[in-house]
Amino acid sequence: MIYACHCTICQRQSGGAFGMAAMFGGGDMTMTGIAPAHFIRQGHGRKFRCYFCLECGTRIYHQWFTEDGDFPFVNIKPGTLDDTSWVRPGCHVWTQHAQPWIRFLDDDVVFRQQPGFEEMPRFSRP
Ligand SMILES: [Zn+2]
Repeated sequence: MIYACHCTICQRQSGGAFGMAAMFGGGDMTMTGIAPAHFIRQGHGRKFRCYFCLECGTRIYHQWFTEDGDFPFVNIKPGTLDDTSWVRPGCHVWTQHAQPWIRFLDDDVVFRQQPGFEEMPRFSRP
């Protein structure tokens, strides 16, 4: 499932109207090449480790964590994938901050704020 987050933090960090993330199980991802650097961000009541390329600065993925450990999934920035032809957000969060020109499709899952973890559709692939 591809998420679009319309919160003001994601608008700022993406330099656009929303940020996008594709949720995958942590074991489904293999990194090659230069190890990414990361910074830690807080938002939506969670902490994220945000990984980016040291050469070009591109955000690659983020992972939620707590003092109890990492969540068992990663949120990949889908625009960094080699094949982006299937990328379309089917779930929108923090739509209370969405730009007024944004339109949602009938089958989109839409939340005005951050849904609970158990409410979020996840791990579905195209
Ligand atoms: Zn956000």
